[in-house]
Amino acid sequence: MARIVMKFGGTSMAGTERIRRVAQIVKRQAERGDEVAVVVSAMAGETDRLVNFCREANPLYDPAEYDVVVASGEQVTSGLLAITLQAMGCKARSWLGWQLPIHTDNAHAKARIGTIDSEELLASMAGGTIAVIPGFQGLTDDNRITTLGRGGSDTSAVAVAAAVKADRCDIYTDVDGVYTTDPRIVSRARKLKAVTYEEMLELASVGSKVLQTRSVGLAMKEGVRVQVLSSFIDENAPSADTIPGTMIVTDEELENAQVERQLITGIAADKNEAKITLTRVPDRPGAVSHIFAPLAESNINVDMIIQNVGRDKGETDVTFTVPQADLARATDVLQNQREAIGYNRLIPDTKVAKISVVGVGMKSHAGVASTMFTALAERKINIQAISTSEIKVSVLIDEDETELAVRVLHTAYGLDAD
Ligand code: ADP
Ligand code: ASP
Ligand code: MG
Repeated sequence: MARIVMKFGGTSMAGTERIRRVAQIVKRQAERGDEVAVVVSAMAGETDRLVNFCREANPLYDPAEYDVVVASGEQVTSGLLAITLQAMGCKARSWLGWQLPIHTDNAHAKARIGTIDSEELLASMAGGTIAVIPGFQGLTDDNRITTLGRGGSDTSAVAVAAAVKADRCDIYTDVDGVYTTDPRIVSRARKLKAVTYEEMLELASVGSKVLQTRSVGLAMKEGVRVQVLSSFIDENAPSADTIPGTMIVTDEELENAQVERQLITGIAADKNEAKITLTRVPDRPGAVSHIFAPLAESNINVDMIIQNVGRDKGETDVTFTVPQADLARATDVLQNQREAIGYNRLIPDTKVAKISVVGVGMKSHAGVASTMFTALAERKINIQAISTSEIKVSVLIDEDETELAVRVLHTAYGLDAD
């Protein structure tokens, strides 16, 4: 007997028919005699719909009330899955975020999970009842509902897996594993048998939305075994226990598995960034901190930053990126600080995309960045900003060139499947 946490994403939960297929996969796992907890997303498109309602009501909405609205999508699917499992003769019940409870901090719309009270849940699972848990939601110390940021159900699943000490956390989605790049963009993308926590963390953080970044960080910290696999399977498909998907593993496990390592593991694209340029900022000590300190205070993450070469008269342009979802708030903050910063114009641009190549091989090989720049230059794709880390190189380009850039780079690094 094993204890398994299964997570199903939005496409897998989109409608009664699909929920029935999910219930069959869950039932099959439970019939092996395993203790099962299921974490579910809202139906595909539902969270976007709810976010839009908030924006329409007020673009500068109160994040605490936003959480009340957007957490509702998962409440619906968790109840529906419990009903469907019961109809198939399984014992099942839902556990809303506040019923466990899943404790979080109070950073609304991007809350972090602290602890999960899992005693009752474990007792119920031990009694053979399948636990159905809405992903994405938690509770602050003063009993307000929180959500964990877009894609947060992955993190809910890993957190539950850590809390109940699960043998494995299976993330079921609409692709059958982690690929060298988004298989919807590049049809010759290759499926990876295994990928290290470190690489998956970097891939997720630069936009491979197959797993939420925090879920990978948490899995790494807590040693949770995570598999990514498809929910679009028939009853004859191999069971999850044979690891048909992609396993997230330690460096050591990857070495032992003797999987051939490429210089580049994967390529990711992120269209959810926005670029802000402040023109004619005074070129003197402290000017930059007047820009970034108030953004940090407002909990807005700044990613790429370029301070251009100073113009005449001791002025410079400063360009940086923020999540598109935070653009309205960032603009508001910067406009309020206009005098303190002393800039001339604020130019927002949402038509940008960040393309990143990731691989631990980079640590020991030179030339990865120059291959990238050359391949993009050959296709006349202009680079607007660059950032790097030990195992990643990212560039900012025009959003319209995203697909082309990813394809070109996939070929340039020799990743195309035969
Ligand atoms: P879910 O609703 O199940 O959480 P997501 O849409 O969040 O699913 O994530 C799955 C999607 O991630 C896939 O449909 C695919 O388009 C995308 N994706 C991006 N990069 C990758 C990658 N490297 N490997 C696999 N899928 C990827
Ligand atoms: N429903 C939420 C979202 O769309 C959380 C998730 O599906 O992971 O972001
Ligand atoms: Mg997701």
